[in-house]
Order: sequence, then C-alpha cells, then structure tokens
Amino acid sequence: MARPARSSGAVLLRDAARLEIAGHHVIVVEDIVDTGLTISALAAALHKLEPASLDVCALIHKHIAGAQPVAIRYKGFDIPDEFVVGYGMDYAERYRNLPGVYRLSPEG
Ligand code: 5GP
Repeated sequence: MARPARSSGAVLLRDAARLEIAGHHVIVVEDIVDTGLTISALAAALHKLEPASLDVCALIHKHIAGAQPVAIRYKGFDIPDEFVVGYGMDYAERYRNLPGVYRLSPEG
C-alpha cells in the first residue's frame, strides 16, 4: 500500500464570516498536525475575524523534515513521520474506531 497522500494545504472554511469570534479567546482542536499546512491556513483565516487570542490544541504533532513550524499551545504527543490511524483518525474511512493510535503498516 502506498503512503496516504499528504494534505494539499487548501483549506476551505465555509461561512467563516458567521463565526462570531471577535474578541473571544479561541482554541482550535486538531487531531494531528502533519505538514502544518491545514492549521496554518485555518489560523490565518480565523485571525481575520479578530479573536482576542487564538491557540492550537493537537493530539499528535508529526515531525517532518522541512515542515513549517507550527506553534501548538496544547499538545498530546510527538510522533515520527509515519501515518497513524485509530482514536478517531481514519485511512479511507477505515480504522477510525480503533481504541488506540496505531501506525499503518505499508503491508496494510
Ligand atoms: P497537514 O495539513 O498538517 O499536513 O494535515 C493535517 C490533516 O491531515 C489532519 O487533520 C488529518 O486529517 C490528516 N492527517 C495527517 N497525517 C495523518 C495521519 O498520520 N493519519 C491520519 N489518519 N490523518 C492524517
């Protein structure tokens, strides 16, 4: 099995203007920060709505050589550059219900 594709970083935030976060303290909760492209794009979009503060919480931070640094205020744990599933994280809609976090082996 090939390694699952990485995020393109193209984030579509629908109806962002309806988020009434101006002046509020906001925490964005992510399952996993991989390249950091998704959270960076999301944070940029949310900053335009003028929150009082904006922090990131992530269960997992994956360490990838050359990835742009992401400030994660509340972090579960770090992992090497491997694709993981379980605990709500899927691969093609599978393995999401596994009770822990597992590395997806290349053999499937
Ligand atoms: P990034 O933009 O940081 O590269 O990717 C963030 C998103 O990609 C995560 O929120 C998650 O949906 C998905 N993702 C990145 N790495 C993994 C991984 O190892 N396993 C799973 N299941 N999803 C991942």
